Amino acid sequence: MPLSIGIIGFQGDVSEHAELLKKAANKLGTEVEVKEVRNLAQLSSVEAIIIPGGESTTMFKLLKLYSMYDRIREMAVNGLPVMGTCAGLILISSKTNDDRVKGMGLIDTEVERNAYGRQIDSFMEDIEIKGIGKYRAVFIRAPIISVPGKTEVLAEHAGKPVMVRKGKVLGLTFHPELTKDTRVHEYFIRMIEGEGYPSSGNM
Ligand code: GLN
Repeated sequence: MPLSIGIIGFQGDVSEHAELLKKAANKLGTEVEVKEVRNLAQLSSVEAIIIPGGESTTMFKLLKLYSMYDRIREMAVNGLPVMGTCAGLILISSKTNDDRVKGMGLIDTEVERNAYGRQIDSFMEDIEIKGIGKYRAVFIRAPIISVPGKTEVLAEHAGKPVMVRKGKVLGLTFHPELTKDTRVHEYFIRMIEGEGYPSSGNM
């Protein structure tokens, strides 16, 4: 049976995530089936979920509207692996600086939306990811993780965490789907399969 991975499909780089997941699975020799998820029925059949970037205020409203916000939280509490990227990270965090977006609290991070400011709101930077190595990260109107809480910090940029993990929940302030590099998606698939990387062996 292929591993069924859902991507919340309201907005953001859904097809890019899907493509990289398939490439990553190929590299790992794992079979995955990628599903766009826009309602509760679709959500119920996945074994892991990606919440992509986009506009967190809009995604928050839509997830609430379709009753998926509470359901994702419930599934994650019961062990569903989750990867939140950029707006997705804002949505899974425990605290945000914007009343219009209440984080699900799947990961113990506090985030500030659009915290890099207008002039440098989008940029690419080489970062070092634990268990992956040197990696070119694309940041687009990214949030800043102001408090990483009880997470494992896997990568930092300019002294701030940009990739964190707690158990099977992974949060990134950057966009791994906007590169050709499959390693973050490979990491996620291995995390789903429970293999983990050496850096996360104790979690
Ligand atoms: N600035 C967006 C937000 O706060 C996130 C940007 C993104 O996902 N690329 O929701």
